[in-house]
Amino acid sequence: MTDRTNATAGSSPATEKEARDVAEAARESEWSGPSFVRELFLGRFRLDLIHPHPVTVDADEQVRALAFFARLRAFLEEVDSDLIDRTGQIPEEYVDELREMGAFGIKIPTEYGGLGLSYASYTRAMAMVTSKDGSLTALLSAHQSIGLPQPLKLFGTPEQKARYFPRLAKGAISAFALTEVDAGSDPANLRTSATPSADGSYWTLNGEKLWCTNGTRAELFVVMARTADVVVNGKPRKQITAFIVEGNAPGVEVVHRCRFMGLKAIENGVIRFTNVRVPSENILWGEGKGLKLALITLNTGRLTLPASCAGGGKAMLQVARTWAKERVQWGQPIGKHEAVAQKLALMAADTFAMEAVAELAVALAERGHYDIRLEAAIAKMWNTEKGWRIVDDTLQIRGGRGYETADSLRGRGEAGIPVERAMRDARINLIFEGSSEIMRLFIAREAVDHHFKTAFALVDKDSSSGEKFAALRRVARFYPGWYLARWLGRGDVPGSYGDFGPLAKHLRWAERRTRHLGRMLFHAMVRFGPKLERRQMVLFRGVDIGAELFAMAASCVRANMLAAQGNAEAIELADLFCRVARDRIRTAFDHFYGPNDGAIYRVSQHVLAGQHEWLEQGIVGIMEERPAPSGGPGGRATQELRKVEGVGA
Ligand SMILES: Cc1cc2nc3c(=O)[nH]c(=O)nc-3n(C[C@H](O)[C@H](O)[C@H](O)COP(=O)(O)OP(=O)(O)OC[C@H]3O[C@@H](n4cnc5c(N)ncnc54)[C@H](O)[C@@H]3O)c2cc1C
Repeated sequence: MTDRTNATAGSSPATEKEARDVAEAARESEWSGPSFVRELFLGRFRLDLIHPHPVTVDADEQVRALAFFARLRAFLEEVDSDLIDRTGQIPEEYVDELREMGAFGIKIPTEYGGLGLSYASYTRAMAMVTSKDGSLTALLSAHQSIGLPQPLKLFGTPEQKARYFPRLAKGAISAFALTEVDAGSDPANLRTSATPSADGSYWTLNGEKLWCTNGTRAELFVVMARTADVVVNGKPRKQITAFIVEGNAPGVEVVHRCRFMGLKAIENGVIRFTNVRVPSENILWGEGKGLKLALITLNTGRLTLPASCAGGGKAMLQVARTWAKERVQWGQPIGKHEAVAQKLALMAADTFAMEAVAELAVALAERGHYDIRLEAAIAKMWNTEKGWRIVDDTLQIRGGRGYETADSLRGRGEAGIPVERAMRDARINLIFEGSSEIMRLFIAREAVDHHFKTAFALVDKDSSSGEKFAALRRVARFYPGWYLARWLGRGDVPGSYGDFGPLAKHLRWAERRTRHLGRMLFHAMVRFGPKLERRQMVLFRGVDIGAELFAMAASCVRANMLAAQGNAEAIELADLFCRVARDRIRTAFDHFYGPNDGAIYRVSQHVLAGQHEWLEQGIVGIMEERPAPSGGPGGRATQELRKVEGVGA
């Protein structure tokens, strides 16, 4: 039973239970279509869901996309990214040129003035931009992956679409404002509030948003705010609603521009909303649906980063390959020394796999009738982590030149290859749009969802005897057949997956390991019961195995498709990737229950309690007191800025 209350405030941080309840309420509890990865965690290797490769080609769209790519490439070739990095600003003429070529409306339908290109073309464009300049990617992607165009496309009313799409397509920059000082990964702590007017015609928005990309220059914001709690079964439940807010509305204020280790020109800031009037027709999707909207927007929105990482990986591969051939030390090119050679080979294989994962996830999203959330989360988590390691290896191969800035290299007469900048720009990928840890938690939750739905009531102390009995019937119906079938499958049949030629052996292995994963997760459920959700080290090993199996399948399917198109070279890369992924999977299975997990957690808690502070002796501490809040002009953020500037003066 639900009811509305007037409560939105509540200044104390959300309890763990509240945080979980808010996340659970916003979760998509039903599956809107099949999912290869969901099946995989249940121990079922449903290759038919991704093979033949689901990529679709629309000839007309391709022609228009290629024309756009050509223009984008020509523009990027002229962009001075070291200038952008050095000055922390994207020159206005660059933004104008991007506007002119339609780069702010790539996916917006043509009837609203956009380019009307597919999601696949959009992500290809972002990969190209990333290979040159991360700050430009942030500008375009914060606008189109999570900014207003995406939720408007998914949830906007026809009136909202007619009002905003034409502006957005012309280059009205938008931003997505969810994060706050106390609400990072945990949206239950959101404080920004919206209260309705007595006549219901508008809402009054108050609060402050942190790290809002494009926020310092946005014409339009999607703002997540708390609205009146609803009462569910006698208890209040927090509600979050999404509002479209005009950047020039009275009361919208940029109070601080944030600066970071990389993405130096990202237009990111602290945005304050003071008594901002928002017309009621600016609610997106409906009252209380904001967090769900944010999560669904991110499901497809986070497909941009995997493609970007693949683009970045290609740029790094080009640098590493060229340098490993050119640089001679100890009598031969460094690429002939085994330590460097192995990095180069793995970089090529991993870049191939990253592109396979990104392309497959996007193709599945575009085909429709497919639930993309697990594939998208794995693609985000896995590609950003692989991409980071590729930048690190490239820097190592470039040696001292990898650590030197492009300007400095140029200043002493060498080629200004910006690996140092690429490294600074790439690190944030593992944090925003869902950190690696939060992605693993999300994937783990969905991975065990079927088991939860089937059996959880049996071990839940709050469930009634009727619920327990119903669960018992479900368990008796599902598990005997399912469990037995996890012991024998297609991977045990010699010669199966024969159409994959030399890659067939990897698919047979992956099929067997998928059944093994299904069994292991089930055993873990039985072993830990409801406590499993707290055993992150165990769960995350399961997630990592699932991610590697997905990457193996994606690589084989893509190599098979490319080979059929005449590019047999791809087989070699997919083969190497699978060989090495198999090693990683074996190790994760061998340590599934982590013999040292207990000791690791115990020591971590001793560290937290200060028991090992003695280890921190002999250093000059770099910790700084948080400045006291101040109500003065510009508020706390400006005070901090002044303080930092004061040190430099
Ligand atoms: C450059 C930049 C751009 C950004 N752009 C935007 C934007 O446009 N819009 C927007 O709304 N936000 C934006 N963000 C915010 C970004 O999405 C958050 O930084 C991110 O959600 C993580 O929140 P946090 O940094 O507060 O980390 P916290 O939530 O404080 O987490 C700190 C660490 O703890 C881990 N952790 C937290 N909870 C758990 C858990 N339950 N289990 C295990 N580990 C956990 C996290 O993974 C992380 O490693 C941006 C941030 C940056 C730095």
